[in-house]
Amino acid sequence: MLTAVKPQKLMAAGRAFAAIAEFHPELTAFRRDLHVHPELGFEEVYTAGRVKQALELCGVDEIHTGIGKTGVVGLIRGKSKSANMIGLRADMDALPLTEHNPFGWKSGQPGKMHACGHDGHTTMLVGAARYLAETRNFDGTAVLIFQPGEEGYAGAKAMIEDGLFDRFPVQAAYAMHNWPSMPPGTVGVNRGPMMAAADRITITITGKGGHGAHPYMAIDPVLVAAHIITAAQSIVSRNVKPQDSAVVSICAMNAGDLGAMSVIPGTATLVGTVRTFNADVQDMIEKRLHTLIASVAEAFGATASMNYERIYPATINTPIEAMFAADVAAMMVGEENVTRDMVPSMGAEDFSFMLQAKPGAYLRLGQGDGLGQPGCFLHNSRYDFNDEVLPLGAALFAGLVEQSMPLTV
Ligand SMILES: [Zn+2]
Ligand SMILES: [Zn+2]
Repeated sequence: MLTAVKPQKLMAAGRAFAAIAEFHPELTAFRRDLHVHPELGFEEVYTAGRVKQALELCGVDEIHTGIGKTGVVGLIRGKSKSANMIGLRADMDALPLTEHNPFGWKSGQPGKMHACGHDGHTTMLVGAARYLAETRNFDGTAVLIFQPGEEGYAGAKAMIEDGLFDRFPVQAAYAMHNWPSMPPGTVGVNRGPMMAAADRITITITGKGGHGAHPYMAIDPVLVAAHIITAAQSIVSRNVKPQDSAVVSICAMNAGDLGAMSVIPGTATLVGTVRTFNADVQDMIEKRLHTLIASVAEAFGATASMNYERIYPATINTPIEAMFAADVAAMMVGEENVTRDMVPSMGAEDFSFMLQAKPGAYLRLGQGDGLGQPGCFLHNSRYDFNDEVLPLGAALFAGLVEQSMPLTV
């Protein structure tokens, strides 16, 4: 439960929300402009330019561009200038799909769409920048991180490798993601895993091609693939402890030619994903897959190899920062609208790289249906970010800064 919040903190939270609500129409216009101009990972030139321009207009103290290719960092110093430093992160990239919404601000780029709401995240952080630069009611520096390439490009990692935390040594970092299945005005977080690690497996099976009517003269890699697919399902059911969570999914199979009914191919390829929260479980699954694949193939006289790529680590909140963020959220929306034991998602998120480097928390911000198709989830061609939640998201970002680095007077 939320421990006694001092009345002045509640007032400050209310002030931030009220002040940001004043420029809600401008935030909505900014968000919709980004929505019209979606850009894929590491191509966010227009978006980064719009962010830079907006930060300049806000009177942000320093703007650094080109971090991790197209990343942007803005610094705002509080009224009191201690070494305190808090990072807030928004992602800027869109997805490679064509939008099917009817409204005027739909994507102007066929094959590209803001279907994950990163246009909204970027706008919320710009809103926080405007409020924080105007008021500066904190002791230290707010580091606003606009990152490229969250959708599979590891843009957060690129920024870290480009010196993000060496140049801006934040003590904690926070991010939030809109969540359509939660109503607007709600926030979700937990003390540990929020999102899973995402790994990609590519299995290559080599047999011996031949005539479909004379399979005894061939070594059929399609049959071997079928047995490997079945055997792989035993890992989660027989090797992973029931208390742990994991997924092994084989999602693609490529073998032979659909026009050749009587040609046994020489090779088959399987592609899939492994999702875990715990490094020991992840290591065990990788090991078991190697053993099963090699042994099953050998049993049929074939050979098989696997390429196992660790794409994103699990997104794990640190407990103190997670509950602090929940407290700040409760000041804005009330304790009854904050979930502190959010069930993690098996999806993945590259803010995980920042949480490997720094304490912090990743929050879910309720977004409801918005103007997209009702019940439409992320990554759908009918999704749209709900502009109604822009002031709350921006105020929550600002509140994390004001409450974690309070003025002492
Ligand atoms: Zn996404
Ligand atoms: Zn996303």
